[in-house]
Amino acid sequence: MGEYRGLFFIMSMKTASLRTLRRFVAFLAIAALLPLCASATGKLLQVGTLPALAAGVFDGATTLEPIQRPESYGLGTFENLDGEMVVLDGVVYQVKVDGSVVKPAVATKIPFAAVSLMGEPDVTASVGSFASKEEFQNYVLGKLQSLNHPALLLFEGKFTAVTTRSVPAQKKPYPTLAEACLAQAEFTLGAQEGTLVGFYCPQWMAGLNAPGFHLHFLNSGKTAGGHALSFAVEGGTLRIQELTGVQVLLPGVDSAFAESDIAPADAHSKAEK
Ligand SMILES: [Zn+2]
Repeated sequence: MGEYRGLFFIMSMKTASLRTLRRFVAFLAIAALLPLCASATGKLLQVGTLPALAAGVFDGATTLEPIQRPESYGLGTFENLDGEMVVLDGVVYQVKVDGSVVKPAVATKIPFAAVSLMGEPDVTASVGSFASKEEFQNYVLGKLQSLNHPALLLFEGKFTAVTTRSVPAQKKPYPTLAEACLAQAEFTLGAQEGTLVGFYCPQWMAGLNAPGFHLHFLNSGKTAGGHALSFAVEGGTLRIQELTGVQVLLPGVDSAFAESDIAPADAHSKAEK
């Protein structure tokens, strides 16, 4: 393609005026940049599906390698459902069921994760207090241009209270996610400084992810966090990146994913309650 453009450029030179040439060069520059802009931000990269996780597909589908890109943010879990994942600027944190936070090796396998690059956010807002998770989420809904597109959310600030959970590693034969969550550990963290990261997903994504909000928390000392059950915000900075593409990495055709009876995402919603 580049060669043809070059040939066209040379053939055009003889007759083209300087102005036309400038326009042509500008067009080539924009044409070259467009694919970069489209691929750098604005897409959701997902490993596995939440309905599969809800059904108990806890086998790792891939390693951390595809999700550890600079500027990527997101959440997920680990093989055997071994804790909650928080991804901040390409660094993966694992909040274990005992509440400890570790940085797992890149070879660690994962059954589910959702990450996206936070480029130039669509929204950057300094926000004041929110009495609850629901109040915060309603504010975010008001900031979204489209409720039919997924969005990456990143909130850094102070919290008057945060409660999170993590889940214990499971053994085969795996239970469902809801069954595994019966043994979840809840952490009442109190006042914290830290980061909420996660996604808004529209209803049509029910077969892939959980419609609505899904947020994970990590404190600024990287010593506590997990799946955000409830929180109250004192203030901070909210960034939102609305996403116009979804890429899903599925486990192999010889995997437990292939064998499983995967129901819609309301199974995960039940696990959230
Ligand atoms: Zn979660």
